[in-house]
Amino acid sequence: MRLGIFGGTFSPPHIGHISSAEKFILQCKLDKLLIIPAYIAPHKDRAEADIPQHRLNMARLAFAALGERAEVSDIEISRGGKSYTFDTLTALGEKDELFLLCGTDMMMNFESWYRFEEIFKMCTVAVCERYSPTSEENAALKVKTEYFKNRYGAKIMTLAGVSVPISSTAIREMIKNGEDVSAYVGDDVTEYIEEKELYR
Ligand code: ATP
Repeated sequence: MRLGIFGGTFSPPHIGHISSAEKFILQCKLDKLLIIPAYIAPHKDRAEADIPQHRLNMARLAFAALGERAEVSDIEISRGGKSYTFDTLTALGEKDELFLLCGTDMMMNFESWYRFEEIFKMCTVAVCERYSPTSEENAALKVKTEYFKNRYGAKIMTLAGVSVPISSTAIREMIKNGEDVSAYVGDDVTEYIEEKELYR
């Protein structure tokens, strides 16, 4: 089975995530996509980890739009502690062919990931743009991916298609300012955020 993994904080999940996930499923011909909210994302601060159950619930609401092929997994939230992708890939085992979705921002810093060389051996990395890059950024990404391929034998593919330039940080800021975020997160997640009074 071709199994895709999409990790993140998802605080909250937004249309940028959904659109990358769709591209990932189609272009990597995935049989299944696991969306895995982190307990504590290694690159982020603690504050967002304080609402893991809410992030999990919001991810379930948001990614329901992708149908049966996409499933939200609590593997990292149940494990607790820092959510290292290496541990998650190891837990998923070797029975499936693994694909890992990664934003361009994450790809540029991949060498800071815990046991990244082994991650490269365990899966194909699918890189997705977060915003329209400048030609310099594009060139830098190309250099980086070529380097990873040559130096570590990494399998890296770049997903085609336009990006949706939005971040959870911007959405949290909008909520603080009392702005309507439903165009970015959908009605179900908007209702959830209101009901649980998140991000105020
Ligand atoms: P925050 O603003 O809180 O840092 P975020 O919007 O970056 O959050 P994450 O949950 O950290 O969202 O992202 C999980 C993954 O989704 C990362 O690999 C990230 O690069 C990718 N991603 C986030 N936003 C987008 C987007 N707009 N388009 C494509 N990929 C995205």
